[in-house]
Amino acid sequence: MVAMQALNKHFGSLHVLKDIELEIMPGEVVVVIGASGSGKSTLIRCINGLEEFQQGSLMVDSKALLPHGKSGKALQKIRTEVGMVFQQFNLFPHLSVIDNISLAPMKVRGWSRADALETSQRLLERVGISDQADKYPAQLSGGQQQRVALARALAMEPRLMLFDEPTSALDPEMIGEVLDAMRELAKEGMTMVIVTHEMGFAREVADRVIFIHHGEITEQGPPEKLFDKPQHERTQSFLARVL
Ligand code: ADP
Ligand code: MG
Repeated sequence: MVAMQALNKHFGSLHVLKDIELEIMPGEVVVVIGASGSGKSTLIRCINGLEEFQQGSLMVDSKALLPHGKSGKALQKIRTEVGMVFQQFNLFPHLSVIDNISLAPMKVRGWSRADALETSQRLLERVGISDQADKYPAQLSGGQQQRVALARALAMEPRLMLFDEPTSALDPEMIGEVLDAMRELAKEGMTMVIVTHEMGFAREVADRVIFIHHGEITEQGPPEKLFDKPQHERTQSFLARVL
């Protein structure tokens, strides 16, 4: 689903991603961990072309994203196939919940309003908030808003889902409901790349955990291996701080 080779990304003089090699298989759930500023967001934002990179190659679902943002039509195609959920929910404040979800399928996929509404309602049920369809984002709790954001991404029938700290802006009592919805999605076989500090969730759901330090993949492996027997001193000291 993703093949990244020798990918390098700079912000001006700052070398943010260094020779990243990353392959993600269909159905795999990959959790990315690392200290603040290590490049986690930049890494996953490269996968849907939200950030340009300068060197290396990147294939997403067999379509090439080219360096310097020169991907052309492939970028449009990839954006329709890759869903993303952010820390800040980024819902359209002036649209109802159901309209937030049905907008993109209608505009981008050309679905009829009736089809889009039916699918949106089904997705709201799936994330456990079917009774909130006609509310506006500001009328919902953070946990509900994030589940709307998840439903909105799923409405495009993505082949890959990216999550950038989806629970970091939530009050503690709302984290569980969002993680539950993500857990369900993982069970259904969705390919997922998740940046999170929820180590318990990572241990339970991830097929593979990747530890990034200063823009480099220092270590990766199945959660039991990475969490219980980290090989690298940097991984050990990071985990000692967060676990
Ligand atoms: P993380 O998500 O792991 O906290 P980021 O990928 O957001 O890290 O950032 C990696 C590094 O790149 C940090 O040093 C950050 O300050 C820098 N950075 C991120 N976005 C930009 C930007 N748009 N312009 C310049 N520097 C940036
Ligand atoms: Mg980040």
